[in-house]
Amino acid sequence: MRKSSVAAFLLASMMIGLGSAAAAECPQGALGVSRTIAVDPADHPRVGSMQYPESLPLRDHEVVLTFDDGPLPPYTTRILDTLASECVKATFFMVGRMVRGYPALVRRIYSEGHTVANHSQTHPFTFHKMTVEHAQQEIEQAHASLLSALGDEKAISPFFRVPGLLRQDSVEQWLAAHHYMTWSVDFLADDWTHINNKEVAKRAINRIEARGRGILLLHDIQPATALAFPEILRELKVRGYKIVHVVPATADQPKTAAEPELWAARHSREDKIWPRTVVMSVENALPVLAAPAPQSFGIENFGRPSIRIALAQTFESQLISDGQSPLTSMPPWPQQLAYSIPAEEVVLPAPAAYNFRYSRPYHLGDKSKGKKGATATANAGKTKDGTGGTSSSGSRPRAVGHQLTVMRPIGLWPWR
Ligand SMILES: [Zn+2]
Repeated sequence: MRKSSVAAFLLASMMIGLGSAAAAECPQGALGVSRTIAVDPADHPRVGSMQYPESLPLRDHEVVLTFDDGPLPPYTTRILDTLASECVKATFFMVGRMVRGYPALVRRIYSEGHTVANHSQTHPFTFHKMTVEHAQQEIEQAHASLLSALGDEKAISPFFRVPGLLRQDSVEQWLAAHHYMTWSVDFLADDWTHINNKEVAKRAINRIEARGRGILLLHDIQPATALAFPEILRELKVRGYKIVHVVPATADQPKTAAEPELWAARHSREDKIWPRTVVMSVENALPVLAAPAPQSFGIENFGRPSIRIALAQTFESQLISDGQSPLTSMPPWPQQLAYSIPAEEVVLPAPAAYNFRYSRPYHLGDKSKGKKGATATANAGKTKDGTGGTSSSGSRPRAVGHQLTVMRPIGLWPWR
């Protein structure tokens, strides 16, 4: 009974405009929205440097917050509370079937001034290979779900994010032709991968710091994200970041003017990927090494026309197209490192393969036992395999596992 009266109170509060009351009570020192930009999908149909040549026209230290896959109480609710406590606005890419399940939460998102966006009806992880007709169905059904919750076309932005970021040209063309702006992302926080809230916050902040500006993707259905989000905002505030709210351009709110170069995707802030190295001495500057290839880390087939990197058991994964990968576009390894090469005579040659061999293994514990009297004599006669160097004890303890034996180097040392 108590529960229902609380619900009734909340509903009544919402109806009489608790949202605006909360906005008016914005605490002093709250992060706040530094500016709202209106964008036109016709001019910029695809944004997000992870996959596209353009991203939102943000200035340094500006971040756009986006939440995918909701709404889902109590996590979305908690995130909305956090957003309200810092007076910041975000964009919610909602899944149609979640919208059907929690329409009241969709109405809260909208009434609190956040941007309502489309993330497909059922969130299939097949957007990169489905037919355009199927994609269209997913997109239109999600739109219908949002419309049924909000009852107003104008409440729904023409922003769409492909589930799992699994893009394909035909679907993007359909979206552009139907006045949608397809949103990718500038940085992820891996919050769908069962990492804890501390790690989510750390990754979000580190990646924002590495690029300096951009679109952050979080998932409002994840408990760790709901817990991490206050810390993310706190850190952003401490580090001097500003939150930008993005809305579609309309007749009432014309598109925000921005220099074309601000739309160009930036892959990294030059000096933030790796710490700068110190030039020790520049007698012979070494040639610059290229960044290691993804194959060096066991990532197969990277760089083929389109490769899906499995990022999640259940949620987002990303499709990185050839030439657009943030890895392949990273700057080369820091080139500042240089050092003098010592005179040749003091350099030892690298050990050859024959210096290292797996010999017949011995149990070390038996060694001391073997040195004693009759046992040693008895064991000495048992085996003779020639390995193990020049042990004078002559014992051969029993084998129990592998042991790496360093063989006597040939032709390298003074005693040879
Ligand atoms: Zn998603």
